[in-house]
Amino acid sequence: MKPALFEYDDPATLDAALDLLARYGDECKVLAGGQSLVPLMNFRLARPGRLIDINGIDSLAGIKLEGGSLSIGAMTRHVDVERSEEVAHGWPLLAEAIGWVGHSQIRNRGTVGGSVAHADPAAELAGHRLAARAVGRALPGQRRHACRRRPPCDRHRRHCHFGVQPRR
Ligand SMILES: Cc1cc2nc3c(=O)[nH]c(=O)nc-3n(C[C@H](O)[C@H](O)[C@H](O)COP(=O)(O)OP(=O)(O)OC[C@H]3O[C@@H](n4cnc5c(N)ncnc54)[C@H](O)[C@@H]3O)c2cc1C
Repeated sequence: MKPALFEYDDPATLDAALDLLARYGDECKVLAGGQSLVPLMNFRLARPGRLIDINGIDSLAGIKLEGGSLSIGAMTRHVDVERSEEVAHGWPLLAEAIGWVGHSQIRNRGTVGGSVAHADPAAELAGHRLAARAVGRALPGQRRHACRRRPPCDRHRRHCHFGVQPRR
């Protein structure tokens, strides 16, 4: 099984990625760990004309404590959450849940942002986000001013459909 033809970009900065997303809109898809998107492409269930590979944007990965809250970057791999001491000590439910995501190969490549964006309601992080009332921050295209924080409960409206709307 092979995907349909697509163009490929691998921006090195968040600004460059946002420019590409704004320029190509619905024609393109973000490529994170590829654990869900690539199989969909191979089955021809997804046929993006262009992939924006964000694996080279180091600033998108990382786990930080911010004023007593845990902040996890979109490109943080599941394995890094699984092995994080901060998570183990302060967020034991997340530490427990993340180990149930697929198997180690999946967790080595799969990302927190990819799981959230893919929005499979059966995913461990979907359940954890609801239980922990976690909030997400999204940057749609170039419109940084539309960044927002919203709880996850109104996200999973349809299976594998992540509802992102401009801030009112
Ligand atoms: C064999 C197998 C078993 C699995 N088992 C489980 C399991 O038990 N539990 C579980 O929770 N998951 C499971 N998964 C899914 C896995 O967790 C995926 O890693 C995850 O769903 C998607 O993360 P990814 O980084 O691979 O995203 P990708 O596959 O790269 O992308 C998925 C979607 O999200 C979009 N996207 C990705 N990152 C961003 C971003 N930063 N901004 C905007 N859009 C973005 C992509 O455009 C695409 O539409 C499994 C996958 C496989 C292949």
